[in-house]
Amino acid sequence: NEPRLILKDVRAYYRQLKGTTEYQVKAVDGVSLEVYKGDIVGLVGESGCGKSTLAKVMMMNIVPPLEYIGGEVELVSRDGRKFRITQFKSKDEVKSTIWGKHIAYVPQDALNALMPTIKIKKIAYDVLRSHKKDVTMSRAVEIAKERLKELDLPDYVVDLYPFQLSGGMRQRAVLAMATLLSPEVLVVDEPTSALDVTTQKIVLKSLLQLRKLGFVDSIIFITHDISTVRQIANRIAVMYAGKIVEVGDTDSIIWEPLHPYTDGLIKSVASIEPEGREKGISYIPGQPPNLIDPPKGCRFHPRCPYAMDVCGEKEPAFVEVKPGRQVACWLHQGRGGQ
Ligand code: SF4
Ligand code: MG
Repeated sequence: NEPRLILKDVRAYYRQLKGTTEYQVKAVDGVSLEVYKGDIVGLVGESGCGKSTLAKVMMMNIVPPLEYIGGEVELVSRDGRKFRITQFKSKDEVKSTIWGKHIAYVPQDALNALMPTIKIKKIAYDVLRSHKKDVTMSRAVEIAKERLKELDLPDYVVDLYPFQLSGGMRQRAVLAMATLLSPEVLVVDEPTSALDVTTQKIVLKSLLQLRKLGFVDSIIFITHDISTVRQIANRIAVMYAGKIVEVGDTDSIIWEPLHPYTDGLIKSVASIEPEGREKGISYIPGQPPNLIDPPKGCRFHPRCPYAMDVCGEKEPAFVEVKPGRQVACWLHQGRGGQ
C-alpha cells in the first residue's frame, strides 16, 4: 500500500466575532486519515460537519477567518518525494509547488467554478502554464482534446464557454481540466449533488476512468450522500462534528457499521423512499452540535441511542479495531477504556 496523502491530527478553526467576543468554530478538530494509491475514499457526513473545511486543509488553502491550528498533512508523489504541505511558508508556495500538479480540488460549486467568460481551451492553457511555463496554446489545445475525449467529450468542447455545456458535460470538463497535470490526489466536493441520476452515473464513470488511466492515483469524494459514494468508493470515512468517527472498507461500513452515527446514516438512507431521501439524516434525532462549544466527551452523545455515562465525560480515542478499520466510540474500546 503506497501512501499518497497522510493527515495526522489536523486542526483548523474559524474565528468568529460575536459582539466583542471572539470564538473559535472547531470545524476540523483532530482528524487523522491515510489515503493510498488506488483509493477512492468517500468522506461522508451531514452538512456543516467540516468536510469542505477538511478539503481546504488538505490543500492548505487557508483563508481567514479559517486558521490552521495544527497537525500534519503529507503528500507522497509517484516518484516517492514527500511534501509536508503544512510546512510550506505561504499559500503562494503551496500553490506553485503542488496545486494542480500533485493535488487538485474541484469545489462544491464546480458548475460555477469555471469562469463563464473563458473558453475551455484558455482554462486548459492556464492550468498547464501554471507548471510548464513554455507550453504553447496549440499544445494546450491538443492535450485538452485528448483528455476530453477520454471522458467522452467531443473535440469542439475546447472552443466553447462553460455556460454552453450541459451540467453533466460541464462537470466532466471541470474534472478533465482539474487533472490535466495528472495530480496524485484529486479531491472532489459533492460532484454529483446537483445532477440527475443518469448524469450522476456518467460523472462517477468519469472519475473511475481518470483513475484507470492513471491521470490521478487517489480520489477523495466528499458527500452527504452515502448511497451515491458507496457505488464508487473502496473506503469510507465518516465525519461528525469536526472529527472522523469511523473509517473502513466500503462493504464493512455499509453492512457492519460500528459507530452509532454511521449506523443512523445508513438506516436513514436504506429505509426511506426516494422522495424522503432529501431529508436524509434528519432521520437521526436531534441536531448536529454547535462547533463553538461542542459537547464534552463524545460529540455524538446527545443524539446517541447507546450513550453511556462515560460518553459525556471522556472522548473516545480513534482506535483500530481490525486491520483497516478504525472507530472512535466507547462501545468499541471497553467501558472506561484505555
Ligand atoms: Fe454513542 Fe458513546 Fe459511542 Fe459516542 S462513544 S457514539 S455516545 S456509544
Ligand atoms: Mg460542504
